[in-house]
Amino acid sequence: AKADGRNRHHFYSRALHGEIQRQQQLRHDLRAALDAGQFWLAYQPKVNPASGELLGAEALLRWNGPDGPVSPAMFIPVAEETGLIVPLGRWVLREACAQARRWSDDGHALPVSVNISAAQFGETGFLETVQEELRASGLSAHLLELEVTETILMRHVEHVQRNLAALRALGVQVSIDDFGTGYSSLSYLHEFPVTTLKIDRSFLAPGRSGPQATALITAIIGLGRALNLQVIAEGVEQPAQVRALLDLGCAAMQGYLFAPPLPPAAFEAWRRDWPAQ
Ligand code: C2E
Ligand code: CA
Ligand code: CA
Ligand code: CA
Repeated sequence: AKADGRNRHHFYSRALHGEIQRQQQLRHDLRAALDAGQFWLAYQPKVNPASGELLGAEALLRWNGPDGPVSPAMFIPVAEETGLIVPLGRWVLREACAQARRWSDDGHALPVSVNISAAQFGETGFLETVQEELRASGLSAHLLELEVTETILMRHVEHVQRNLAALRALGVQVSIDDFGTGYSSLSYLHEFPVTTLKIDRSFLAPGRSGPQATALITAIIGLGRALNLQVIAEGVEQPAQVRALLDLGCAAMQGYLFAPPLPPAAFEAWRRDWPAQ
């Protein structure tokens, strides 16, 4: 039994060693990709299809790896596990602020939204990072929006509340991404000084277009109204969804129906043609 235990221990430590090596390799690859300039940002418009207004653009990270594009669903979790999300996320913030500043300089000011991971938001220096990037880019704070998840909010409630209050005091907008999929307690929601609820696209999925999904969307829109928050729906792919959302009182939308995430030049071209028809 003793030998058995020793073997098992040996096995575990080898597996652990392998895991650590794998993590280090991945972190190394991502770091190298960051240094090699293989990351870029795509921009997806947020629109009000009723008024034709362009409301903003969400920055979405893209990686052109040596073997072709790698989905953020693949590499973001790795970046989060290995801690590389902190420098990578800072790069995203810098790049997005610089882009929004150019839009502003060109006379077409447009708010830019940046996704923030829990590990980033929890960093002690996060607030200062945001302030520094705003200062370095010269972007007006009200043209920056951060998208955070419910998981972030529920993690270290007091620290998060302080951070949010400080961001809001700067003029930065904050939205709760993927709203309705996390574990946020409704009784807490009003204590977080956020500006927007972003209805998760799973609620709009074609397979969920029944009365239940409608009831959930209606509830979120009502919640937004009660708490005086803006509400935006993501993942809008069909005209029928647009009509349904407008009927329910949600006019802010984002999705493939309007435009996919686009490289900056394609975004400019799309913008010149919007509103279509
Ligand atoms: P997310 O923040 O919820 O972003 C929305 C995702 O839905 C994007 O996927 C977008 O391309 C996709 N999408 C947009 N419209 C539609 C639509 O009409 N239908 C469908 N089916 N999908 C649509 P993407 O770009 O692959 O990003 C996936 C996730 O990776 C993001 O989800 C976000 O959580 C994360 N991510 C992306 N960029 C960053 C970043 O710079 N920092 C951090 N921390 N996370 C990021
Ligand atoms: Ca997002
Ligand atoms: Ca989302
Ligand atoms: Ca998501």
